[in-house]
Amino acid sequence: MSAPLKPVLAGNWKMNLGPSDAARFFDEFLAVWQPRDDRSVVVFPPAISLSAAREAVQAHRRPDVLLGAQKVHWEPNGAYTGEISARMAADAGASLVLVGHSECRWVFGETTDETVKKVRAVVDAGLVPVLCVGEKIEERRAGRAEDVVESQLAPVLGTVSSDEARSLVVAYEPVWAIGTGVNATPDDAAAMHGYIRRELAAAYGHEISAAVPILYGGSVKPDNAAELLAVDGVDGVLVGGASLDPHGFARICGAV
Ligand code: PEP
Repeated sequence: MSAPLKPVLAGNWKMNLGPSDAARFFDEFLAVWQPRDDRSVVVFPPAISLSAAREAVQAHRRPDVLLGAQKVHWEPNGAYTGEISARMAADAGASLVLVGHSECRWVFGETTDETVKKVRAVVDAGLVPVLCVGEKIEERRAGRAEDVVESQLAPVLGTVSSDEARSLVVAYEPVWAIGTGVNATPDDAAAMHGYIRRELAAAYGHEISAAVPILYGGSVKPDNAAELLAVDGVDGVLVGGASLDPHGFARICGAV
């Protein structure tokens, strides 16, 4: 039997909190959030704040709080103005990278092919990819939610070997729940997390699949985090807006 997964509590700051604000966030957050070895806490600051975030967690001697990058390019370097590579993110303190966030897919036009290349680059750089998948509201209403998630998931699973899958994280983030204040119902989340787990098991077998955390994201708040974290198959949460408030994020981290 494999060990139970540690819940993952992750905050995606999106384009918020520059370097000075990031330092202030950690001063407040680390004063109210004490280390716990039964869960993993991760913060994804904007790329420009990664080094400041690393300095802050180091200054507070808090290696329990991990850092991640919100987005990387798939090439290691080159003429890609405005982009950063996975190796650069690692050098600045990231251990994880979000890939395929719906804002990258639907606001900036990231294709599934690009998502696959990014996951490859993240894995090759020795970092953990957090693959975000999720359907739009019209796709859910048309009964296509699982098909859409499958179309985002399968090409990535095709590029990640069984060994590499041991450090994969998947985040189910229905597009209609992101930043809207409308979260998935526990039943809908349970159904989709079960579906993703079955897809992982089909690709890698039960033992490896059971080690892949599947996070829920979409309008998670301090007041609904406990209910969502209690859903069968939900191994953690990816929190956007509510992760910007150090006290609120600490409440979410404590909601397991
Ligand atoms: C996100 O950006 O990943 C997210 C889930 O946002 P929010 O929590 O604000 O809906």
